[in-house]
Amino acid sequence: MIYLKTNEEIELMQLANRLVGKTLAEVAKNIRPGVSTLELDKIAETYIRDHNALPAFLGYGGFPNSICTSINSQIVHGIPSSKVFLEEGDIISIDCGTILNGFVGDSAYTFCVGEVRRDVLDLLKTTKESLYEGIRNAIIGHRIGDISNAVQTYCETRGYSVVRELVGHGIGRKMHEDPEVPNYGRKGSGPLLKAGMCICIEPMINMGTRHVVFEKDGWTVRTKDRKCSAHFEHCIAIREEGAQILSSFDYIDEILDNKTN
Ligand code: MG
Ligand code: MG
Repeated sequence: MIYLKTNEEIELMQLANRLVGKTLAEVAKNIRPGVSTLELDKIAETYIRDHNALPAFLGYGGFPNSICTSINSQIVHGIPSSKVFLEEGDIISIDCGTILNGFVGDSAYTFCVGEVRRDVLDLLKTTKESLYEGIRNAIIGHRIGDISNAVQTYCETRGYSVVRELVGHGIGRKMHEDPEVPNYGRKGSGPLLKAGMCICIEPMINMGTRHVVFEKDGWTVRTKDRKCSAHFEHCIAIREEGAQILSSFDYIDEILDNKTN
């Protein structure tokens, strides 16, 4: 069942999602070699609670923390740990969710730790661009498959592979609502896009094989060949005038610009 949101509900969704963007920026300030992933988790949790919201991931399906921290070959759902420290040249995908005013925000970004290899930077660039390709196709009259196909085509024509086991999703009062939003598929297939639909588009793109391994910790998903994977996620609303991005990377970009200047 797909729940269409009213304008008022979409405004509340935007508030929850903007807070995710700000939280990711707060985490970004602290991404550097030597920091533990648990320290990043605590920064996120504190920031979310200080803004009168709840961390949506904490306790979700039993997940123990407020963000997912997935390094290099880890695709998603990495568990923060006091024993895992970032190293120069790593990439780290951080996925974060908030609950504010009864609505959930959900967004993810893959960050560089210091100087990262050129081919890995290219993976990040393509994955992020494919997200916007998907968003461009999220218009009334299209179907979910048009988003999926746009992401898949953009990545595969550039030599990357698309994870099949994990997909994007509808979102609202619950983090995961219908419909599923795969990053692969046929144009013109799947549910019709209608005004008021809120979905998360979240390409998970690999440098090597698309195949994955589910780690024994019950959460972490990594690439089978241990090559790098990237993950970018926006929450969007389908509007008469086109897709409206409810989450935001603007706060992150500001922090990253300050770091490099
Ligand atoms: Mg997410
Ligand atoms: Mg999501």
